[in-house]
Amino acid sequence: MTPFQKKSAHAALAVMAVLAFGACNTTQGQVLGAGQVAGPSAQTPAGSSSGGGNGTETKAALGNGCHSGDSSKYCVALKYVVMKDANDAPAISQAETLANLESMNKIWSQCGITFQIDQYEEVTPSGGVSASPSAMGELDTIRNAYGDDTTLLVATTAGSWSLSANAWTSMPGSAPYGAVIEGAVGAYAPIIAHEIGHYLSLDHVSNQAELMNPVIYSTSTQLSEGECTAARASIDQSWAKMVR
Ligand SMILES: [Zn+2]
Repeated sequence: MTPFQKKSAHAALAVMAVLAFGACNTTQGQVLGAGQVAGPSAQTPAGSSSGGGNGTETKAALGNGCHSGDSSKYCVALKYVVMKDANDAPAISQAETLANLESMNKIWSQCGITFQIDQYEEVTPSGGVSASPSAMGELDTIRNAYGDDTTLLVATTAGSWSLSANAWTSMPGSAPYGAVIEGAVGAYAPIIAHEIGHYLSLDHVSNQAELMNPVIYSTSTQLSEGECTAARASIDQSWAKMVR
């Protein structure tokens, strides 16, 4: 089916092995059509804000902000890191990053949660950071290199992984925090939305229609009310400094 399908066969085993560590992996179930990356407003970082005037306004580094002043809605700040390959080409384009943000926000708005990109960096890996991880520890090295405690890290590698997953995220309680995404699926928004689900404390469920299914299809987008409640509670308990 897809170049990524081969990894799915190993997903269940890897998930079982790793849940004990409070982390979780993900594989991609289906690649979207080639037209998915047609982002409308690339290259034009637009300011956000105009909002509640309560001192929490921020200006998004890329794309639109989500601060609304509505206390029932969560606006969570991302740090979006895109690695560059040996030819200095970023793993995904700014247009793809913006398309990811739009799709993630569409999915997570089911829970009253949306995201803005407060920090956007295209980086050349250095200092022991690998763009092609072959061991889980290298994903921690990536998180340690780019993560901070005021934004939710989404790091996209520039190379393919020799691991039985396309993405990996530490759940609350198992630092270093952050979602690391294989470059090959860096523009596949459902997988990133899924990783954010882990970041917000959600475990896997067995239902292909749901976002937290271990294998992510383009139609795996549903979140239950219980998951929404848990995700919002996770923000309150663990990620308050990321709320804008
Ligand atoms: Zn997962």
